[in-house]
Amino acid sequence: MTFETLGLHSSIVKALTEAGYTKPTPVQEQAVPAALQGRDLMVSSQTGSGKTAAFMLPALNKFALAEQAFQPGLKTPNQERQSARSRGERPRFQPAQPKMLVLTPTRELALQVTTATTKYGTYLRRVRTVSILGGMPYPKQMQLLAKNPEILVATPGRLIDHMESGKIDFSQLEILVLDEADRMLDMGFIEDIEKIVAATPESRQTMLFSATLDGVVGSMAKRITRDPLVIQIASAASRHENIQQRVHFVDDLSHKNRLLDHLLRDTSLDQAVVFTATKRDADTIADRLNIAGFAAAALHGDMHQGARNRTLDALRRGHVRVLVATDVAARGIDVPGITHVVNYDLPKFPEDYVHRIGRTGRAGRNGLAISLVNHSENINIKRIERFTKQLIPVDVIEGYEPKKTASAPRSPRKPGGWKPGDNRGGKPGQRSFSKPGAPRKDGYNKGSHFGDNGGGRRSYGDR
Ligand code: ADP
Ligand code: MG
Repeated sequence: MTFETLGLHSSIVKALTEAGYTKPTPVQEQAVPAALQGRDLMVSSQTGSGKTAAFMLPALNKFALAEQAFQPGLKTPNQERQSARSRGERPRFQPAQPKMLVLTPTRELALQVTTATTKYGTYLRRVRTVSILGGMPYPKQMQLLAKNPEILVATPGRLIDHMESGKIDFSQLEILVLDEADRMLDMGFIEDIEKIVAATPESRQTMLFSATLDGVVGSMAKRITRDPLVIQIASAASRHENIQQRVHFVDDLSHKNRLLDHLLRDTSLDQAVVFTATKRDADTIADRLNIAGFAAAALHGDMHQGARNRTLDALRRGHVRVLVATDVAARGIDVPGITHVVNYDLPKFPEDYVHRIGRTGRAGRNGLAISLVNHSENINIKRIERFTKQLIPVDVIEGYEPKKTASAPRSPRKPGGWKPGDNRGGKPGQRSFSKPGAPRKDGYNKGSHFGDNGGGRRSYGDR
């Protein structure tokens, strides 16, 4: 299967070839032809499977066809606006009327989608993409909106602000995309999303992407799509086959810190992301690692957008070797050099574990995901294992053994340690976990979260 056989315009295929894409990924193979026919989509597939192109290519194709059909003598609506201005007509305020809207949970994701769109659409002259993000200065955004871009990529909170002040009119919208819809709901954006959807025409094409199509996100997906094609390549909780996972039990903080330093000195480590529970810990640990001689940097939501962008850029260029980050800040990071993910603290939700470990093993490479866990957190590991339906082997490194013996059986470390290309961990041990689909007394299977039902997450919002 090639991109041509999927039915894409030659100008898009050319851009993809230049981007080094030789063939469509499985989710693209299924999504693109259906989306080209104008069908709605409900898609769940794991991170890194190429979902951005799955919705952007068919959308850009529509724009490519419109460009082709365009007659040179005619003026585009934007040229009309401009020539009215040059005729000295009083500039009448006109809201932006985008043809496509992509909603994403975070600024970083929105920027990634925008970058990808620019890449895939290099040869489309008339298509402009603008991101509308929390944290960006309003005057700058007004300027961008005044150009009446065809494609808007936005986080819901900030978009609502612009809609309410009349800067955006969705009456001409043809395509609506909800990227990482489950995450947007987790972050408390449901009302904003409902409002935005209600402002768009019924005739639109809707494409929704999510780690899961169960629960609330599934019912929302059904509400806002019409006769959608449901594509489930593998749930995000599915096997990250190319990512080896491990648990190390630690006695206390100092044991954890010593072990972290040791792990970061692994010669197979190219770049690593260390996840912490709090922003303050991210700063403290990054400082400590810097003093210990690692090229480390923190990334979290309290940093200014400029500082976040600089850090991400330094990571991409390989100047930062160890990124110490919180969940939301690190979401969607796509840097092929990341060989290791370390959970310094366990995530609050099993889904976050899956998103975290997905930062490594990008672009078909192998990765190693290590969790440093107190004995009392064994229960949380079990929850993660139930969610991913995979057992995470416990590992012990000579000289860093925990004093307490864990309740779980250990698997011996392989001689020589992990090397890139080394796929399977030690023996998973015999810890029991409920079979997929087996009913549970505590109702865990019912919702996508354990513990509190996400109420604490609103503070992560991205306004
Ligand atoms: P997802 O949204 O599913 O997590 P992305 O759209 O961010 O995945 O894509 C993940 C990575 O794979 C990106 O670096 C992207 O450039 C790359 N990619 C996407 N499609 C292809 C393809 N067909 N061939 C090669 N690389 C691809
Ligand atoms: Mg994505």
